[in-house]
Amino acid sequence: MMEFQRVCVLGSTGSIGCSTLDVIARHPEKMNVYALTAHRSMQQLAEQVRVHQPTVVVVPTEQAATEFLTYLGQGVAKPEVRVGSHALAQTAADTEVTTVMAAIVGAACLEPALAAASAGKRILLANKEALITAGQVFIDAVKAGNAELIPIDSEHSAIYQCLPERIRRDVPSPADSTIRRLLITASGGPFRTWAPELLSAVTPEQACAHPNWSMGKKISVDSATMVNKGLEVIEAHWLFGMPADQIQVLVHPQSMIHSMVEYVDGSILAQLGQPDMRTPIAYGLGCAERIQSGVGLLELTSLGRLDFEEPDFQRFPCLKLAFDALRSSQAACITLNAANEVAVEHFLNRKIAYTDIVKVIAESIEKITALPSVVLNSLEAVLHLDQQAREQARSLCAVTV
Ligand code: NAD
Ligand code: MG
Repeated sequence: MMEFQRVCVLGSTGSIGCSTLDVIARHPEKMNVYALTAHRSMQQLAEQVRVHQPTVVVVPTEQAATEFLTYLGQGVAKPEVRVGSHALAQTAADTEVTTVMAAIVGAACLEPALAAASAGKRILLANKEALITAGQVFIDAVKAGNAELIPIDSEHSAIYQCLPERIRRDVPSPADSTIRRLLITASGGPFRTWAPELLSAVTPEQACAHPNWSMGKKISVDSATMVNKGLEVIEAHWLFGMPADQIQVLVHPQSMIHSMVEYVDGSILAQLGQPDMRTPIAYGLGCAERIQSGVGLLELTSLGRLDFEEPDFQRFPCLKLAFDALRSSQAACITLNAANEVAVEHFLNRKIAYTDIVKVIAESIEKITALPSVVLNSLEAVLHLDQQAREQARSLCAVTV
């Protein structure tokens, strides 16, 4: 029997946050919401509070708090309203919390995810940046805090679901000798078949129109460039201890197989399902037991076929950059992530072209890794390098216009 779960949903107004609330609401006898946090959309947060009645909400500023309370109006039990980024970490570590859904986008999730790790929570990790930037620091915090880490990113959830319990219990774990390779699938995004010369004119709207998944804007652009897959390769490295050479990316346009594990005996285990994040979220919330997620059947007969292709590094240079970064250093991985965030933001604001994203990342990595190397064994050291990389990327974006 799983224990009753009191969930802190970090980033509740986002795409993953909303899907999480949808799944939680299906299981009132097994779980409820302890805290909700949001950075914008105070009206949406107020609506969520009316439905889920959390004990705590966290908002970024006093002004946001006032706005939130105005939207909440009268006749509803008021939650405790906490303000500022430190309140995120404090709330994730509250003693009442059993489970933290880490679904804030970007590096802002790092501090609360680390706090949850140190406090020994069950962490449902949707955010990628915590592992990609902090790497060993985050893993050490999970181990030291005796926390449980369940991946939510669909590929890593698929891999996790294909692992024997012995290995799952130990995640994040060193490489297991029974695993030959991790096979991470990628849809190839909206531009998989576009002529490369057309890419320079791509608009944010086109980049965000993912063929199979409906997601936040940033991750949609990351899927189009395949930076997302690159980040997932690095994420898989930290979660499952596999070196870059034992992680293969396969373009699989139908997005029905979410990833696979190839074992030394020649078996490949795969997890299939509709491309709907509620399946991995339910697997996490169910603590690896199967619970209802609201996701419909996958009709294999109507699907007909499953295709696989080798990714084309010419068309998706960002994927190659990510493999190179993983082989090279953590500083390169941090810079890849930070420079990408800056570049994507500039692209979404129409300040740089789609094809500038890869240039900004590549040049940032070159510049940052040329600096004298520092030991990245603390949150401060990681955040400092992250800031340096962002400044570097910003100055490159400024000259690109
Ligand atoms: P989103 O943009 O839809 O939502 C992000 C949430 O984080 C919002 O609630 C927002 O208010 C909050 N937030 C943003 N900036 C913040 C800040 N500085 N401080 C505090 N809160 C802040 O993003 P999403 O698509 O839900 O993705 C969330 C995370 O999960 C990302 O790291 C993404 O890479 C990962 N992920 C998403 C999907 C998906 O299908 N959407 C799949 C796999 C992994
Ligand atoms: Mg994914």
